[in-house]
Amino acid sequence: MTLAESAPPRPDASGHYGRFGGRYVPETLMQTLVDLEREYAAVAQDAAFQRELQFLLAEYAGRPTPLWRARRFEESLGGRFQIWLKREDLLHTGAHKINNTLGQALLAQRLGKRRIIAETGAGQHGVATATACALMNMQCIVYMGAEDMERQALNVFRMRLMGAEVRRVTSGTATLKDATNEAMRDWMANCDDTHYIIGSVVGPHPFPMMVRDFQSVIGRETRQQILAAEGRLPDHLVACVGGGSNSIGMFHPFFADDSVRFWGVEAEGSGLATGLHAATITAGLVGVFQGSMSYVLQDDDGQIQPAHSISAGLDYPGTGPEHSFYADTGRGHYVAITDTQALDALQRLSRLEGIVPALETAHAIAQVIRMAPDVADGAIVIVCFSGRGDKDVFSLQRHIQLEDESPTAG
Ligand SMILES: *Cc1c(COP(=O)(O)O)cnc(C)c1O
Repeated sequence: MTLAESAPPRPDASGHYGRFGGRYVPETLMQTLVDLEREYAAVAQDAAFQRELQFLLAEYAGRPTPLWRARRFEESLGGRFQIWLKREDLLHTGAHKINNTLGQALLAQRLGKRRIIAETGAGQHGVATATACALMNMQCIVYMGAEDMERQALNVFRMRLMGAEVRRVTSGTATLKDATNEAMRDWMANCDDTHYIIGSVVGPHPFPMMVRDFQSVIGRETRQQILAAEGRLPDHLVACVGGGSNSIGMFHPFFADDSVRFWGVEAEGSGLATGLHAATITAGLVGVFQGSMSYVLQDDDGQIQPAHSISAGLDYPGTGPEHSFYADTGRGHYVAITDTQALDALQRLSRLEGIVPALETAHAIAQVIRMAPDVADGAIVIVCFSGRGDKDVFSLQRHIQLEDESPTAG
C-alpha cells in the first residue's frame, strides 16, 4: 500500500492534516473563512477561472519556468548524479510568490472584493501582491513592521510605485508576525469588502490548502519536464522552508510517489545551540500560531520566540501544517542550514552557473552540497530555485568580501 492510499485526504473537512491545521480564529472571522472555503471550492472546479489563471501565469508571470540542468555544479560535487534547478527566479517579480498572489487576486475578483490586504516581512510578498492588484485594478494595503520597512526600503518604494499603501506596524517586535496580527485585525473589521492574501501555506483553513494549490504548478510542471527530459521521476526534491509555500508547491504533486524523497530546508541562522535560528520543525514545538496548529518556535511557557536568519524570507517562527504533517509521518525530511553555509552555497552557485540565488534559495543549494556524498550514483536531484538574488545584493556586501583584482593604476 502506498502512502497516498493509506493517508486520509488532506486536509480533512475541518481543515486538518493529521493533528495539524484547523481554524483557530475569533468567532467574527469564522463565517468569512467558511464562505471563502466554499467559494474557493467552486472556482477550483470552474474551467473559466482556471483558464484565466493559466493565461495570467503564462503571459504575465512567464510560465512555464525552465528546468535547468546545472552541469558545472554537478561536476564540482563529483559528477556522479544529476542536479536540476526549477527556475522560479525567472518569474515576473523574481520569485514564486506571484503564483499565489495572481490566484488569490483573481479569486477576490470573483468574490466581488475590491480591497486587498496583505502582510509582508522582507517585502517580497508585498511586492507580488501590489503587482497583482495593479494589474487587476484593486485597492492594495500592505502591513509591514516598522523594523522591516527600514531594512527593506527598496521594496517599500516598489510597492508604492505600483499604487499600494504600505502601513507601518510598530507593535511587538515591529516585524512580520506583528504585521500579520495587524492584517488579521483589519480583516476582522472589513471582511465584507476585503480579501486577505496570505503569503504562504500558513494561517487558518482554507489558506494552507489554497496557497498550496496555487503553488503546485511548480511540481506539476517539474514532473512533466523531468519525464520529458529523462523519462523517469526524480529521486530527491530539495526546497527551502520559510512558511513553506515554494517547497509544498514542489512536493505536493509527488506525494503519492513513494520513491521521491522530500528535503525541506530550514534556516539554522547562527546555529541551533545559539538559539538564534528559524528552524521551526527541527527545533520547535507543536502549538497554535496565527490561526492553525503546527510546529512553532516557542519557549516552555508557549511564548513565541523571535526567529533569526540572514534570509528575511525564512525568518519566521511558524511553518505550514502540511509540512508539520509530512515531518510527523516521515513523508518529508526536514533539515537546517546555517547562515554561513548558505552564503558559501550562494557564492559557489553564482560562479559555477552564472545564476545568483536568493539567500532563501541558497539554503536549498547548501543542502545539496551537504548531502552529495550520500546521494546514489545516477540519481536525479531537483532543487526548487525559489528566487533570484538581486534583492539581497545590498546585504550581501556586508557579509562577502570579494577581491579587487583589477590592476592598480599609476
Ligand atoms: C518568501 C520566499 C521564500 C520563503 O517562503 P516559502 O513560503 O517558504 O516559500 C523562499 N524563497 C524566496 C525567494 C522567497 O521570496
